[in-house]
Amino acid sequence: MQELTHYLNGAHVKGTSGRFADVFNPATGEVQARTPLASAEELDTAVQYAMAAQPAWAATNPQRRARVLMKFVALLNRDMDKLAEALSREHGKTLPDAAGDVQRGLEVVEYCIGAPELLKGEYTDSAGPGIDMYSMRQALGVTAGITPFNFPAMIPMWMFAPAIACGNAFILKPSERDPSVPLMLAELLEEAGLPKGIIQVVNGDKEAVDAILHHEVIQSVGFVGSTPIAEYIYATGCANGKRVQCFGGAKNHMIIMPDADMDQAADALVGAGYGAAGERCMAISVAVPVGDDTADRLMEKLVPRVEKLKVGPYTAGNDVDYGPVVTAAAKANIERLVQTGIDQGAKLLVDGRNFNLQGYEDGFFVGPHLFDHATKDMDIYQKEIFGPVLTCVRAQSYEEALGLAMDHEYGNGTAIFTRDGDAARDFANRINIGMVGINVPIPVPLAYHTFGGWKKSVFGDLNQHGPDAFKFYTRTKTVTARWPSGIKDGGEFSIPVME
Ligand code: NAD
Repeated sequence: MQELTHYLNGAHVKGTSGRFADVFNPATGEVQARTPLASAEELDTAVQYAMAAQPAWAATNPQRRARVLMKFVALLNRDMDKLAEALSREHGKTLPDAAGDVQRGLEVVEYCIGAPELLKGEYTDSAGPGIDMYSMRQALGVTAGITPFNFPAMIPMWMFAPAIACGNAFILKPSERDPSVPLMLAELLEEAGLPKGIIQVVNGDKEAVDAILHHEVIQSVGFVGSTPIAEYIYATGCANGKRVQCFGGAKNHMIIMPDADMDQAADALVGAGYGAAGERCMAISVAVPVGDDTADRLMEKLVPRVEKLKVGPYTAGNDVDYGPVVTAAAKANIERLVQTGIDQGAKLLVDGRNFNLQGYEDGFFVGPHLFDHATKDMDIYQKEIFGPVLTCVRAQSYEEALGLAMDHEYGNGTAIFTRDGDAARDFANRINIGMVGINVPIPVPLAYHTFGGWKKSVFGDLNQHGPDAFKFYTRTKTVTARWPSGIKDGGEFSIPVME
């Protein structure tokens, strides 16, 4: 069995803690590798390398840093198929979806190539008599990121590309479920010319995370994952004086107005609800048709589409709509929540239980489920299922539908399907959710805008990528300067003001 490594100071390094986690092939259920789980000492080794390398990297001019990212983009494109295959093998998503995972990360790298422009400071000539004032953005130093299993290429790139472009060193603690692609990305960055020690990968679990949170050299922590862990990391990181941004779980509602095109709405729901087996933080997991007639028309279109979904291993190529979920534990949790839905009285219109794929009996496959007539007190509505389960909650009016999404504890993404511009505009203005789609079911903003939810989907105040990332990974320093000829004689005892 393959033994994975850490990636420290430009080299693959075996784990020394003696602790390992199994890495599965979710399609077959087999353990295909084991990944080391770092101790606090191993994390500290990475920090020491990062500290040694970072000052020279920060002093490298931003255009040269950007050129490394340009080369990195070329290498990502060169190795796209290899990366997608490695990603599918550990995560389970289909190959086109895995390539999309790499591509959405690559697009943020492309954005970060604009670092020389994005890092430009501000300057005021003659802010006072003979006084000039300027502000600059400087790197934080050693930064770290903790990422989830569901986008093992994209989310690490969303963090390390801006961190590195700004002149920081970055230590990545990827998910222990699928650590191979993050290791490959670190290798590619160094092939692109990144100095050793600027990107490092420390594999691990809570022990490595806690070591990051308590290491006094680490200046910032980025986190993406489930809400309870996001909350813990935010509280602990902030208590230790770090700059922290944490992105948590989701329960994304799609509101279907009576005037929507039901074919379009149903197509959007199958893609956004079941793509990647529902393991996306921007998956639509709740459909809210407005009015019973709308709900009936929607279900008529939706049920046959859900029944026709093709579930299988990534090796089956284009013949598959979605693959297995990531682990046996994830599958068991989905099945448990489905059972609560049945027990609590929702109507299971498409029953994906007992799904069986010949030749892949030990894989972590979950058939597609569709619930109708769910209510807001049910577990299937309140909890993030993170599986191929779409729950329909019928609303009798637009206000009721809006209220459902507004009252839910999560606020990552949402969508409205309608032909009515007024309704769409009202929805976009009033909804308390960070990313809104109008006839777009998965409104993931592009690299030059920012990504982030509201409510329990986020802890911290700056979003991922776009201009916010350059703020998160730098500090502002403001210099006020005057030269001897402008300095009056004698001390000045009252606060200088501009009269
Ligand atoms: P997770 O919270 O289980 O794990 C995320 C990271 O935290 C991993 O690196 C893991 O090793 C670490 N971790 C796990 N338990 C920990 C603990 N007790 N203490 C410290 N660290 C711990 O999440 P996951 O299952 O990998 O990913 C799925 C979740 O991520 C879903 O809730 C999904 O909605 C969310 N997600 C959110 C976004 C977003 O942008 N809001 C994006 C992708 C995924």
